[in-house]
Amino acid sequence: MSEYIIQIDHVNKSFEKGSRTKDGTLREGVKVLDDVNINIKKGEFVTFLGPSGCGKTTLLRLIAGFLQPDEGRILMDGKDITNVPPYQRPLNTVFQRYALFPHLDVYDNIAFGLKLKGGMTEKEIDQRVRKVLKMVSMTDYEDRDVDSLSGGQQQRVAIARALVNQPKVLLLDEPLAALDLKMRKDMQIELKEMHQKLGITFIYVTHDQEEALTLSDTIVVIDEGRIQQIGKPKDIYDEPVNAFVANFIGESNILDGTMIEDKKVRFIDKEFDCVDEGFGENTPVDIVIRPEDIYITKKLEVAQFLGTVKSCTFKGVHYEMFVDTDDGYELMIQDYNAFDVGSKIGMIIKPTDIQVMHKFGKNIYEEKEYACNEIELLDNKEDGDLHGKIRSIIYKGNHYHIEVQTSDRKIFYVDTQEIWDKGDMVGIKFLNK
Ligand code: ADP
Ligand code: MG
Repeated sequence: MSEYIIQIDHVNKSFEKGSRTKDGTLREGVKVLDDVNINIKKGEFVTFLGPSGCGKTTLLRLIAGFLQPDEGRILMDGKDITNVPPYQRPLNTVFQRYALFPHLDVYDNIAFGLKLKGGMTEKEIDQRVRKVLKMVSMTDYEDRDVDSLSGGQQQRVAIARALVNQPKVLLLDEPLAALDLKMRKDMQIELKEMHQKLGITFIYVTHDQEEALTLSDTIVVIDEGRIQQIGKPKDIYDEPVNAFVANFIGESNILDGTMIEDKKVRFIDKEFDCVDEGFGENTPVDIVIRPEDIYITKKLEVAQFLGTVKSCTFKGVHYEMFVDTDDGYELMIQDYNAFDVGSKIGMIIKPTDIQVMHKFGKNIYEEKEYACNEIELLDNKEDGDLHGKIRSIIYKGNHYHIEVQTSDRKIFYVDTQEIWDKGDMVGIKFLNK
C-alpha cells in the first residue's frame, strides 16, 4: 500500500482558446496547470493556497474527476484513477455555495444521497445521519428547513451531507468564503476539530493565507498554475523560497540584497551577519525580514542601524510601525511596545531572522539580457517594444518590483519608483538597446 492517499503526477491542464468568461469576453488559450506534482499523505490536512485564478479549483476538480488532465496522472492509494468517473471515487466535495435542497429539511438533505444510492435499510441510514449530525453539532436542527438556517449552519449541513458518504478524502473548495469573519473563525476551529476526530484526509482550497496557516498540516502555494512551495505552515512562513511566497504568506519586508560571501549579506546599505551559505560571492539576492523580527531599541549606540518612526498603529496585540531608515528605506515593524511618531530609534536584526532567497527570473529580449532597471513601463501600450499586463507588485523598501506578463505568457521583471496597479495594461520598453 502506498503511504500516499492522493498523488498528483506531472499534471498539465489547458482550457481551449475561445471559451468565454463570466463577463462575456473571449478567453485566450491558457495553461491553467503547469506540471503539478503533489503527494498527499493519509489523514493529512492539505491546503492549496494561491490568488484567485491560479488554478486551485481546477486542481480540485481534477482530483474529484469532474475534469481530465491533458497530461499526467492522478493516483489514489497508489492506483491510477485518472479515468475513473467521479461517482466511483471515494471522495466528496464541499463547495463555497452550499447548494442544499430548499424543499427538504436538514435530515432529508443529509439522507438524500444515501437513499438515492440504495442498498441501505432505513435504520442504517438513520444511524449514519445521526452520527454526522452530531459530528457537525447540528443534532437539534434535524427537522428545520434549510432556509431558516444561518450561513454557517447551512455550511455545516453541506459538510454533513458530504461526510455521510464516509469518503476517504473530503475536498473543500473555499467552503467558508461566503461567511462573515466571526462565523469563519468559529468554523475554522470546528473544521480542524472535525478533521482530527474523523482522521480522514482533507484537501482544502483557499486564497486566504491566514486560514491556510491556521488549518493546515501542509500548504501548497500555487501561482499561475505552478507550484511555488510545498511545506508545513511554519516552514513556509519562516522560509519562503521566493519573493512571491513571502509576499503572499503574510506581511514582510522584501528587500534587494547582495550576498557578499558565506554568512555575510548586504541590504538597506548595511552589512549583516546571516546563517546562509552557498550563494557564491557578490550575488544579487532577495531578502525577507518579517516585521516581528526587527528589534527596536532606544539605545542607539547598540543598534545596527537607525531610523525614524513614521507611523504607529495598534493592531489588537501588537503595534505596527512604519520606519524610515537613515539610508532611505521604509520598513514595517511589529512590536508589543509603541514608539512615538517622529522619534529616533535603533534597530537590530538577528542573523537567523534574515531569510536569503535566490532571485528568480531573467529579462531576455531579442537574445539580450536586461536588468530590472533597464526596462521602462509606459501608460500607452502601443509605445513599448512589447506590451503586457501587470500581474504582481512587491514594494521593496524604496522602490516597486513589478512583474509584467505578455500575451504569450513571457514575464519581465521591472524595478520602478512609479506607482502602477495590478491588472494595468502597459507598454514595455527596453533601455540601452
Ligand atoms: P482559482 O480556483 O484558483 O480561482 P480556477 O481553477 O477556477 O482558479 O481557474 C484558473 C484559470 O482557469 C482562470 O484563469 C480561469 O479563468 C480559467 N478557467 C477555469 N475554468 C475554465 C473553463 N471551463 N474554461 C476556460 N477557462 C477556465
Ligand atoms: Mg476557485
